Amino acid sequence: MAKKQFKAESKQLLNLMINSIYTHKEIFLREIISNASDAIDKLHYKSITENLPVSREDFKITVSWDPDAHTVTVSDNGIGMNKESMEQNLGVIAHSGSLDFKKTIEENPDIDIIGQFGVGFYSAFLVSDKVTVRSKAYGEDQGWIWTSEGSDGYTIKECDKQDFGTEVEMHLKPDEDGEDYSDFASEYRLKELVRKYSDYVRWPIHMMLEKGAMEETGETDEDGKPKKEWKTHLEDTVVNSMVPIWQRSKEDVSDEECMKFYKDKFRDFEDPVSVIRVNAEGSVSYRAMLFIPKVAPYNFYSRDFEPGLQLYSSGVMIMDKCKDVLPDCFRFVRGIVDSPDLSLNISREMLQHDRQLGIIKSNIEKKIKNELARLLSEERDKYLEFYKSFGTQIKYGVVEGYGAKSDLVKDLILFPSMAKDGLCTLKEYLDAMPEGQEKIYYASAESAARAKQLPQAEQVRDKGYDIICLTEDVDEFAVRTLREYEGKEFCDISGKDLGLETEEEKKEADAREEEEKDVLDVVKETLGDKVEAVKLSRKLKSHAVCLSAEGDVSFEMEKYFASIPGADAGNSVKAKRVLEINGSHPAFASLKKAVSEDKEKAKDMAEIMYVQALLIAGMPVDDMMDYSDKIFKLF
Ligand code: ADP
Repeated sequence: MAKKQFKAESKQLLNLMINSIYTHKEIFLREIISNASDAIDKLHYKSITENLPVSREDFKITVSWDPDAHTVTVSDNGIGMNKESMEQNLGVIAHSGSLDFKKTIEENPDIDIIGQFGVGFYSAFLVSDKVTVRSKAYGEDQGWIWTSEGSDGYTIKECDKQDFGTEVEMHLKPDEDGEDYSDFASEYRLKELVRKYSDYVRWPIHMMLEKGAMEETGETDEDGKPKKEWKTHLEDTVVNSMVPIWQRSKEDVSDEECMKFYKDKFRDFEDPVSVIRVNAEGSVSYRAMLFIPKVAPYNFYSRDFEPGLQLYSSGVMIMDKCKDVLPDCFRFVRGIVDSPDLSLNISREMLQHDRQLGIIKSNIEKKIKNELARLLSEERDKYLEFYKSFGTQIKYGVVEGYGAKSDLVKDLILFPSMAKDGLCTLKEYLDAMPEGQEKIYYASAESAARAKQLPQAEQVRDKGYDIICLTEDVDEFAVRTLREYEGKEFCDISGKDLGLETEEEKKEADAREEEEKDVLDVVKETLGDKVEAVKLSRKLKSHAVCLSAEGDVSFEMEKYFASIPGADAGNSVKAKRVLEINGSHPAFASLKKAVSEDKEKAKDMAEIMYVQALLIAGMPVDDMMDYSDKIFKLF
């Protein structure tokens, strides 16, 4: 039978993986055992929901080895695979995340990331030059054998297999280049690896271990005492401890064990920043073990990422990623919920309406919020690290459902402050407000450094008021969703009115504006529809011009809408531009002079002022050539 090729990119990936300078080759066993355990979970679940004649006590995983044949074999009596599922599951590597996998492994050759990308099975090739999978799906008559010697493809044939389940036989590579693959075909090494990586697997992992004891030989020595000698025999032994870690009491589980469990189970290579344990009894009883990760998975901010907690009912896994127990604003949390009150026979659709799940979800929401708030106040460095990865998500939480969860997360968001180095919470901003400050001022720009350069910041900073910088797309939406924080409104420093003037100052400024009406009218006429209005600025101190936005759409929003793929430049949402000119600046004096002496020059100046203001606001300029010509005319 002809060999089938692995699907397109898979081949390249497999080569990359096998040949990468991967240091933890030993994780192959964890991956293969974890697949075996998943397969048993699936059959166990099916057996309960469909009332199949399969007994829970019979489920097991067996690890065996043969030093002479140079092989290690992992077998299970789980759900098994038929020809189609073999083709589907073992013929494609890394279904969705393949490119990301390639990139990540190239960048982090030492990091244990294999499991994250759904390429666990192929880790067998880290240590083997040939892998043989014999499998029979539960309830089917025909067994199938899949064989592959690596990236050049695989074959699938019929085979005789007595029982349902799967057997993965790995033929180890020869010991070359200082690598000791033979070591894997030994009792001590395999036992060590099972204990290290698979201790909490819920199904028994059996190994034939050599047991020894001093036994009587039946003879007697010179003193007439029975002679003894050391005798060994092989004994079928369960090597893992099996009790799920979340079922053990908090005191019995060390931090180290928690971290290890998290990393193995959720395939992260960093410790989480927090572990939350819940043991609830009441209208709904459940145990939960939740982890707040430190780094975002490679696909977290993409549609590929599937949030959710693993759902168990009295130790039976009923769903791998259940979204209905995890609030979306905390979708980065990983973990397990185990409740005896949940019905096993529950479908995804029914879960959504399950009252008990609703209660669990709202409890969990509070626990996560409290833990994040605790981290923020007690372990700020840790929180900052977490925030680097998931801050954007928390801010999305403010916007989600038109602000439905904003009260929950508003105290968890941080923004760069202009006055202080680093980030501050809204509460910290409020606490530092001087007497008389009525608003929370913010500046939007692509970075905090750019925000600090905005000319509009001058007047606010002169008053001794701090400004928070909004640098991400979601920020302005978040601030607008909140509208106010503890009674203080948010105010965009690029907006029209900053509310900083006294009545007297206002009157004075109005009078000056009236006085300079002729000059301002010339500018407005020249610019036409490009601007909504031209005004003498009440914000500027040392700068000549700036642009402010009137109405609901800000410049950052205009940029955001224009950046959406497919946006139609002519039709997308635009901010209403107001050109502000500093009446005390020498540039204004020159403009005024030109208005009375040389109208053409005044018009050029008006255009230049407008383009300068656009550039300062980080907005695109339509006709760069025309602008450049006008500048050079001044020489
Ligand atoms: P992942 O487990 O992350 O989906 P793997 O590459 O480890 O990715 O495995 C691919 C698929 O092959 C599994 O999802 C499963 O459907 C199937 N599979 C692997 N090992 C077994 C097994 N022992 N029994 C049944 N199916 C298996």
